[in-house]
Amino acid sequence: MQEFAEHLAGDAPLAEWDRSCLWHPFTPMQAWQNEDAPIIVRGQGFDLFDEAGNRWLDGISSLWCNVHGHCVPELDQAVRDQLEKIAHTTLLGLGSEPSIRLARALLSRAPAGLSRVFYSDSGASTVEVALKMAYQFQRQKPGGTDRRRLFLSIGNAYHGDTLGTVSVGGIDLFHRCYRDLLFPGITVPSPVALRVPQGHTRAGWLQYCFEEAERQIRTRREELVAVVMEPLVQGAAGILVHPPGYLRHIRELCDRHDVPLIADEVAVGFGRTGTLFACEQEQVSPDILCLAKGITGGYLPVGATLVKEQIYEAFLGQPWEGRTFYHGHTYTGNALGCAVGLRSLQLFEERNLLANVAQCTEVLRERMSILEGHPHVAEVRQRGVMVGIELVRDRDQLVPYGADQRVGHQVTLEARRRGVIIRPLGDVVVLMPAPAMPVSAVQRLCDVVLESIDAVTFGRSIGETAAC
Ligand SMILES: *Cc1c(COP(=O)(O)O)cnc(C)c1O
Repeated sequence: MQEFAEHLAGDAPLAEWDRSCLWHPFTPMQAWQNEDAPIIVRGQGFDLFDEAGNRWLDGISSLWCNVHGHCVPELDQAVRDQLEKIAHTTLLGLGSEPSIRLARALLSRAPAGLSRVFYSDSGASTVEVALKMAYQFQRQKPGGTDRRRLFLSIGNAYHGDTLGTVSVGGIDLFHRCYRDLLFPGITVPSPVALRVPQGHTRAGWLQYCFEEAERQIRTRREELVAVVMEPLVQGAAGILVHPPGYLRHIRELCDRHDVPLIADEVAVGFGRTGTLFACEQEQVSPDILCLAKGITGGYLPVGATLVKEQIYEAFLGQPWEGRTFYHGHTYTGNALGCAVGLRSLQLFEERNLLANVAQCTEVLRERMSILEGHPHVAEVRQRGVMVGIELVRDRDQLVPYGADQRVGHQVTLEARRRGVIIRPLGDVVVLMPAPAMPVSAVQRLCDVVLESIDAVTFGRSIGETAAC
């Protein structure tokens, strides 16, 4: 029998216990046993620290959710103030002050027409909620029908890891195992043109993607529940950046053919693309907007699905009529999370965060431009402070590295030896500085990432070549 004695943090063999007790998300656990990943015990600003006091720059916003840094006095205080009152109380049958205040703050900043906030507690749940709401809406709206069963999604989409969100997802590596469990849908190709199918030019392929979306939405309009998409940037697919006008195009098609648009801004929301919400950049107002990751500044798990009044109204009626949205999570609208979410939104304005994002965007663009012509970089993709650098064995023929080389992972290890935490998507090196990261820290992030890419792709590692 294993003993689970409690130790003080200082003398606990945490690394050993991690290997013996934990199952990490999205992690090949056999290789993990030989890795020496830092165990973070505290953070300060944009740095993370382990027990021994080693320090790393948080180059991926703690997986895309941190906004203002760690241990931000104002956010800490907001949590403490709320904690003095109550940590959590249910929204099932009761109201809760922070959930109301945050809802108003979100709606006052969100694209026009969104008028209701439904809370949950992760990005996947916000999309799951959106899918179920749209489905039920189609059945309950005036003149509704149960013939509408299909969602239209974009190739290589990522909307979360629950079965509903995997059904509208398109990342084969993550999703193929569950295929038989998923509901069917329609997929249109992602409008990106690094590699284009035989017989297409780059420009011709993008044109085809626009037309294919038009054709599918027009011909399948009677069967569609909704269109679901990540506006501007498909994050988990490898920071795929859509061409200007694609989001606007989809919005117009949805309007013309009377199909609701669900915008999943879980990754792109809260400043990452340069505006508070990505939809703003193409003057698009979705019918349903999904928010999570950055909503609490990266402090606590809160998700919010914002909807237009017309959708909400289809759920009204006498309690016994069964039009209710029967969905909820125990921690829906958590008070600590909503309190810190509200304070985080205020900090966007108090600190003029979008101006910092604009500056950092330029720094990233300038620094990454050096990779143009790099023999092992297929493409640098950037929108705002979201950057993906795709590494390949051969740039001209776009020959990928072997999966067994784990090149993206090797770059991560090189960066870690140089004091920076990043995490790749396959062979795409991802930079995702927090929207509030100062320019000087972004410069350091760039220095280290550029050096690490060269170290790995030109075989000049400064450490042990990783045993994993
Ligand atoms: C991360 C992400 C999700 C899932 O969010 P979780 O909080 O991890 O469930 C959904 N959609 C997009 C676009 C994401 O980037």
